[in-house]
Amino acid sequence: MQYTEIMVRYGELSTKGKNRKDFINRLAGNVQKVLRDFPDLAIKTHHDRMHIILNGTPFEKVDERLKLVFGIQTYSPVIRTEKTLEEIEKTALELMQATYKEGMTFKVNTRRSDHKYEYDTNQLNQLVADYLYNHMTGLQAEMKRPDMVLRLEIRQDGAYISNQLLHGIGGMPVGTAGKAMMMLSGGIDSPVASYLAMKRGVDIEMVHFFSPPYTSEKALAKAMELTSILAKYCGKINFIQVPFAEIQETIKEKLPEGYLMTVQRRFMLRLADMIRAKRHGLAIFNGESVGQVASQTLESMAAINDVTATPVIRPVATMDKNEIIAKAEEIGTFDLSIQPFEDCCTIFAPPRPKTKPKIDKAREYEARLDVDGLLERALAGVKVTPIYPGQKFIDNIADEDAALL
Ligand code: ATP
Ligand code: MG
Repeated sequence: MQYTEIMVRYGELSTKGKNRKDFINRLAGNVQKVLRDFPDLAIKTHHDRMHIILNGTPFEKVDERLKLVFGIQTYSPVIRTEKTLEEIEKTALELMQATYKEGMTFKVNTRRSDHKYEYDTNQLNQLVADYLYNHMTGLQAEMKRPDMVLRLEIRQDGAYISNQLLHGIGGMPVGTAGKAMMMLSGGIDSPVASYLAMKRGVDIEMVHFFSPPYTSEKALAKAMELTSILAKYCGKINFIQVPFAEIQETIKEKLPEGYLMTVQRRFMLRLADMIRAKRHGLAIFNGESVGQVASQTLESMAAINDVTATPVIRPVATMDKNEIIAKAEEIGTFDLSIQPFEDCCTIFAPPRPKTKPKIDKAREYEARLDVDGLLERALAGVKVTPIYPGQKFIDNIADEDAALL
């Protein structure tokens, strides 16, 4: 028995008209990207569902990917057959024999879009159920709440039979909510914030600050590999790396220790915002959680946020560390996040950052620096890499580079 296609039902599709079209097209595009290494698949979209024609590709392989794509509510593997009663009965029996477990209850549920078909839905329900009873033992029918529904659809081009209803991850297709920059570190929180942003349909591009030679190639590779885990939910994420060493060195040399953190963060946010403007993003996301560390008090957030009027959205702002960790485990980023490759913040972290920095002070200290020059040179070193699901980066780095730590 082999499934011939997958029928996908859309998620939060309350929208109509143009938005609906956008939803469907984005989802189809994301599904296509997630499945790009299965060349035999064909994807067809309709206003109420999408069909993925398998052309011999095993359902299980596609299933593994599909269950992570935002915007899918439910989906079913389906077998298409000729519209003769004989073929329908034979296929229904094969499907039941392969999947029906003893003690389960079942029913047959038929729909027709081909209204000229020789049997109506009640007749088909009865005929197919009778056939199954005659060829299997121990079957139990149950009309109200059966464990298994054998769904039969008679369309113009054939009969479609399915007996599994699988749940997708829900949410909105990535891209339907517009584009934003995500400030991604190598930590636990920002990958979770990324996931939550994508779930609402935001097309995120990762902005990652790195500081060679103070940070290793492995730290950069770690952020890229986290991105490739997150790309499973949408198909592709652009990764934007920004060199940050000169800014950190300069700040460390010229500013009082209590303001190192605040000013560093102000530079990061400025750079993220400049990149956003260039790339036509609408907002900035980060992984800050209120009160978690010194740089994440409300005073600190206010002092950092002072550099821009762009919306800065913090999806994990009110979550406890435990909740964030649980989510990180669920989405598959935790084990990588706790690998010990230091990122740029850890290395230049002052021992006693101010927990209540003042906006005026931050501005005043900054005025001692060539802010525009520093920003310009960092931007000149920006590199953008498209990252796809499951790409590996860390293992490709030689150990001499890792030894820099
Ligand atoms: P995370 O686990 O996301 O690193 P954290 O609790 O360690 O968060 P911080 O290190 O203070 O917190 O960073 C707060 C936020 O600032 C991060 O969630 C991230 O959005 C952003 N950030 C920190 N370091 C970087 C970096 N190197 N590149 C890009 N963004 C960063
Ligand atoms: Mg961090």
